[in-house]
Amino acid sequence: MARTDALFLATEKYNGLLVTYPNNTADLVESAWNDDVSPDGDYDISISTDGHISLDDPSTLGEAFDQVGNNDTVSEKLNSYDAVLVIDNRNVSGGAGRAYVGTVGEDNALGYCQSDDVQLAAHELGHIYGASHEGDETHWQNFGAFSHDVMGYNGVAPSCNGNDPDLVRELRYMDCARNEIQDTIDSNL
Ligand SMILES: [Zn+2]
Repeated sequence: MARTDALFLATEKYNGLLVTYPNNTADLVESAWNDDVSPDGDYDISISTDGHISLDDPSTLGEAFDQVGNNDTVSEKLNSYDAVLVIDNRNVSGGAGRAYVGTVGEDNALGYCQSDDVQLAAHELGHIYGASHEGDETHWQNFGAFSHDVMGYNGVAPSCNGNDPDLVRELRYMDCARNEIQDTIDSNL
């Protein structure tokens, strides 16, 4: 596995802002990934930003995610990229982001983020590549359920690392996420 190629695809709500494409978010997620998921360079990611899609005024996360799943441009982009993450700029109810877990390389390897928040984008991208929440039982036994690391999730069980509130791992993929992502890449790509 030399490299996986992902696309951050902006919506019409993103277009027209000072920064037209979520380039900064893509760069930061790519950097975090290549530091933590691909320390030996075997699972490098390249995250591109190209094009826009328009959504039909979704009011909930579920509506937005359904529209992304039925979007022709997203389907077309999935012919060229291993994963597509749509980056929006609107308030939807019911959550900030969603993705199909472990689908990288498949025709539904997609996710949606309501904003270009870096940790949110890294989180949903991690899901597409097979990473689950750190709060899952098998994870917090090893690394603790953190709401601070990329795959952490609010409101989950306390940490096995002494539940240290100072042990902030913001924008870091921890070892469990790394292993899941590497296994998924090995089996899917
Ligand atoms: Zn999640």
